[in-house]
Amino acid sequence: MRAFVDPDLCIGCTQCAGICPAVFTMEGTLAVALVGEIPGEEVPAAVDAAQACPVSAIRMEES
Ligand code: SF4
Repeated sequence: MRAFVDPDLCIGCTQCAGICPAVFTMEGTLAVALVGEIPGEEVPAAVDAAQACPVSAIRMEES
């Protein structure tokens, strides 16, 4: 599983970084996702973070 943040949609609310800091970090005012495969143990939290994003800026992809 991989995660991508759409920088055109992200409003910098920090929710994803709070829920899954191993995968989402804030760079300035926007969130960025870990590059590459998400470690298996972090997948549930990453999915939670994606679902919690208020503007649906996080896309999850099977890899
Ligand atoms: S939860 Fe969504 S809007 Fe908020 S920082 Fe993360 S990607 Fe951006």
